[in-house]
Amino acid sequence: MKTAALVMAAGRGERAGAESPKQYRALIGRPVLRWSLAALAGRIDRVVAVIDPEWRAAAGAAAEGLAVELVAGGDTRTASVRAGLEALAADAPDVVLIHDAARPGLTGTTIAALLAALEGAPAAAPALRVDDALKRVDGQGAVVGEAQRDGVRRVQTPQAFRYAAIKAAYEALPEDATYEDDLAVARAAGHAIALVPGDLKLMKLTHAEDFAIMEQLMAGVACVGSGFDAHRFGPGDHVTLCGVKIAHTKGVVGHSDADVGWHALTDAILGAIGAGDIGAHFPPSDARWKGAASEIFLAHARDLVSEAGGRIVHVDLTLVCEAPKIAPHREAMRAKTAEVLGLPMARVSVKATTTEKMGFAGREEGLAAQAVATVEMPR
Ligand code: MG
Repeated sequence: MKTAALVMAAGRGERAGAESPKQYRALIGRPVLRWSLAALAGRIDRVVAVIDPEWRAAAGAAAEGLAVELVAGGDTRTASVRAGLEALAADAPDVVLIHDAARPGLTGTTIAALLAALEGAPAAAPALRVDDALKRVDGQGAVVGEAQRDGVRRVQTPQAFRYAAIKAAYEALPEDATYEDDLAVARAAGHAIALVPGDLKLMKLTHAEDFAIMEQLMAGVACVGSGFDAHRFGPGDHVTLCGVKIAHTKGVVGHSDADVGWHALTDAILGAIGAGDIGAHFPPSDARWKGAASEIFLAHARDLVSEAGGRIVHVDLTLVCEAPKIAPHREAMRAKTAEVLGLPMARVSVKATTTEKMGFAGREEGLAAQAVATVEMPR
């Protein structure tokens, strides 16, 4: 079965009350649009974001690194869906999921349920029961009556369709027709609809306060990892610590650039996601890593976190040595680390201590580092 998804992101979203449309605003550190794209990419063969061309740069940034095509939408949602369906036509899929970018809480569970449902029906969507009492109100908000909640469902997106069925249903619409959603278009064409369990996390970001609710619904579990590393001093005229080259009367012996700070930090991040240690990923026996910049190791750990669906929240590093002096370089080290990890400076701590002349660091035989990394992982 060939699958495709259209993520509708061409709207202006004025109700959420900000300068940029809500699909490009940050939600837990990522643009809203990216959450849906990331959930679909890898599970769906072809993912298309239907966008307002004026916001192409923001859409491109939100899709960075994901296999996502950008297609220009139209003036109305209906026109945008038509444009998206048309873009798929040359290499038509068997099924298409049509999703609102403003619903970032999409999971693999919902996607799998929809694809399974399409085996028995031409259309499917996630839906929730209505458990609250429903009242009718007048223009002033005064209650004027009851509304039936029995036999009512709250329908979310993605709404999933056999491609040929929804394409034909849209083609049959009058040019100026407006429908509540894509299911209504399918139903107008006479197609049966299967409902699958909805998900509270699929709530639509509509009002400004919805962002705070969504962040709570999507919050993951904090996982904390620790790392430690030490290297021996040897001949040389500099040391590299947290990517910063510091002139010194000695060098550091090591297979790579022997950056103890970033080695300890790499191990802390790997520890937080249970992904082994730096030696398992970059064996010292492998000639490729001789003299390598430790940024490669740190960036690899960072990428493993995002591949696992997590994100690094905070890192804290302590360097242990009598010399060189760390304080003059501390801010540069924080900045370099923040840059590689994609974190704001406030989430990167670099500290230094001596061991009061005791032990190997005290005798200036070498230097050491310990690190703690906090990573938020999906529940
Ligand atoms: Mg090391």
